[in-house]
Amino acid sequence: LPVKAAASAKVQEILAKVSRRDPEQREFLQAVEEVLMCLEPVLAKKPEYASVIERMCEPERLIVFRVPWIDDAGHVQINRGFRVQFNSAIGPFKGGLRFHPSVNVSIIKFLGFEQCFKNALTTLPMGGGKGGSDFDPDGKSDNEVMRFCQSFMLELARHIGPQTDVPAGDIGVGAREIGYLYGMYKRVQNEFTGTLTGKAIEWGGSNIRPEATGYGAVYFGLEILKEQNDTIKGKRCMVSGSGNVAQYAAKKLIELGAVVLTMSDSTGYVYEPNGFTEAQIDQIMEIKNKTRTTLAAYKSETGRYVAGERCWNAPCNADIALPCATQNEVEYEDAVKLVSKGVKLVLEGANMPTTNDGINFLHSKGCVLAPAKACNAGGVAVSGLEMAQNATMTTWSSEDVDERLKSIMVDIHAAASAAAKEYGVPLQAGANIAGFEKIARAMIAQGCV
Ligand code: GLU
Repeated sequence: LPVKAAASAKVQEILAKVSRRDPEQREFLQAVEEVLMCLEPVLAKKPEYASVIERMCEPERLIVFRVPWIDDAGHVQINRGFRVQFNSAIGPFKGGLRFHPSVNVSIIKFLGFEQCFKNALTTLPMGGGKGGSDFDPDGKSDNEVMRFCQSFMLELARHIGPQTDVPAGDIGVGAREIGYLYGMYKRVQNEFTGTLTGKAIEWGGSNIRPEATGYGAVYFGLEILKEQNDTIKGKRCMVSGSGNVAQYAAKKLIELGAVVLTMSDSTGYVYEPNGFTEAQIDQIMEIKNKTRTTLAAYKSETGRYVAGERCWNAPCNADIALPCATQNEVEYEDAVKLVSKGVKLVLEGANMPTTNDGINFLHSKGCVLAPAKACNAGGVAVSGLEMAQNATMTTWSSEDVDERLKSIMVDIHAAASAAAKEYGVPLQAGANIAGFEKIARAMIAQGCV
């Protein structure tokens, strides 16, 4: 782990302890380093927080399990399932499930660690957790996905519950997977209490939950622009990804008069020099959500698909970048490219999309980085609202949920911005500090547990 020369002796000591325990967990150590570097000024003021930080880096519980399932050819397949119950100081564990071949302990722990701070920022009482599997839904039949989800839930069900741990979706876990998982959960537990969020609206879901992460990221951006006496209208935006987050971020940007120049997937990117129309985003949604193929299938008179490259290579100038695909998709070289294109604001829709040297470079060039923990918290915030609706057997209107989402994003920005000003640090550090202090206070109040 490359410990920065700037790190204080205390931060170096904590980082060394964490990395000694899990030297091979690259993504987890990256996430820990990013947070700890931001906590330097807090520790200088409040040294009593040091032992809490150490405790926060160790999950309360990590569950790893075998997931056997039978493929369409009748063969038994084995995948590995995970759930990390990271921190329950401020509420039940809460966080998504990711199904992707890259999933391992390091990925699940980085996601779970980040989720703790993100959930703390939402203003709702939710602890942090995450789970998933190295199962790849890509190219599987609906029946194979169902059998996998059922087997996964048969084991997971005993570890979760409405007051214990409430999973949701993430990469590879959308409406279809949530349906299969929830069906099995109910069968095993014989209850309809709403454990799992991201359910369809007809069976206990919340309005605006599909839109929440993407919309929330844009709402967060509006707050930053407002502070700069600026608006989103006419801003040229590069969006990466084409899943749930990217889709609704793009839709909201277009609705507000911004220009969306790119969308991407793991095979390449699409560039629309005049900006995507709403109908073109609908086409991408059709490709990704219904036919489940790649962006190579995208048809347009005005734009083009480029195979095998990140969208940051698109030949355009831009004002805002929205990485909405996956972790570490903005590496140092990408950050350099973005700055050379004129990007001044990065809104992180994905979790940990920017590497630590990427973040440092962006800051050194005066770019504002809205960190995922704050910027993409709209998704889990509306999950919290889904839990509230389930607990009270009600359904709030789309307008009502959208208003609440907006006001939560405004509050998150206010908290991050206030902490940034108090400690004289960038917004990204302010978000880490605000999330951290809420959990730290709760952990200290609850004693050594
Ligand atoms: N996977 C989303 C996230 O990274 C949502 C989690 C949830 O709704 O629980 O925050």
